[in-house]
Amino acid sequence: MDAILSYARSKQAEIVGLIRNLVECESPSTDPEAVNRFVELVADRVSSFARVRRFPGGRFGQHLQCEFLLPGKDKEGQVLALGHSDTVWPLGTLRQMPFREADGKLWGPGVLDMKAGIAFFLFAVEALRDLDLPLRRRVVLQLNSDEELGSDSSRPLTEEAARRSEAVLVIEPAAGLEGKLKTARKGVGDYTLTVHGRAAHAGLDFTAGANAILELARQIHKIAGFTNLERGILVNPGVISGGTRANVVPAQARAEINFRVPRLKDAEILDRRFRALRPFDRRCRLEVSGGLNRPPMERTRAGARLFRLARRLAAELGVTLEESSSSGGSDGNFTAALGVPTLDGLGAVGEGAHATHESILIDRIADRTALLAKLLASSF
Ligand SMILES: [Zn+2]
Repeated sequence: MDAILSYARSKQAEIVGLIRNLVECESPSTDPEAVNRFVELVADRVSSFARVRRFPGGRFGQHLQCEFLLPGKDKEGQVLALGHSDTVWPLGTLRQMPFREADGKLWGPGVLDMKAGIAFFLFAVEALRDLDLPLRRRVVLQLNSDEELGSDSSRPLTEEAARRSEAVLVIEPAAGLEGKLKTARKGVGDYTLTVHGRAAHAGLDFTAGANAILELARQIHKIAGFTNLERGILVNPGVISGGTRANVVPAQARAEINFRVPRLKDAEILDRRFRALRPFDRRCRLEVSGGLNRPPMERTRAGARLFRLARRLAAELGVTLEESSSSGGSDGNFTAALGVPTLDGLGAVGEGAHATHESILIDRIADRTALLAKLLASSF
């Protein structure tokens, strides 16, 4: 059997133990103290074999960078492993969703997205050290604290680290229960449409009012038409608000709209369409704000080459690896947009990210850990 795979199998109970520790240290994006506790947990664990740096995250927790001390002389360039320490789950979720092992799976808040991926990566690094496998490049792990809320604070740090890297390995969850990697991701953004109408008494002065809710309803119908399933363009009016009382013609209404696009060009077209919205009722005024948050990670030749390498290494582990494109974004969107070869979905195999059935497959722990170690050990 592959030496790295048998190493990973021998460590499986320890890997599960680490996943448990990481899951049981809750770290919602909105709670910087909690995220910092998680960051310290990881920092403590690696401090004897990594140079650890912390970066302020503004209103979020700290971002973490670990440069590992690994076998191999005269290293040139670096490989960046990218992940996030935050989860979408509020403090106390563990009471209803405790970490548990059942039905061949590990369950718990953040186990798939993406605490298991972090555990795999730390054990991949340990494998390289314990087996004394020389590396050609430096290895840096960066964990951002604000990924689930758009990565505004970490983006400059991610881009700076990516520019110094030959390749980026993103340890986000794999796609589907087959564990596909992600070589393309849609770009993601948000718009807010605010309608300013004119308030009036809904009985005494009905015709003097310009109903902002009515106007918004017509606009939403139009905006929903921007979706083009065939081209993979998704536009979702997700939140609406407006009005004050049923007997008042509403002066204001608002919609928050999320969108996903496979190509940068689609985002530009969509932006023009949003900016070109005009009121149906001329007495209303429209205000459009927002735009693209994460650029699409378009499938590039360099990214595809990296995937082929991963597929070859996975075959040595007895695993058939496939690629996919994802409708969700990750911090890999930023690094790919800079032209740095980026391979995403290298974390755990499971299902239910952001949902109550969030879980990972136990029998994929060893091969995913081994794949990360083999990628690092191969000289790409
Ligand atoms: Zn994630």
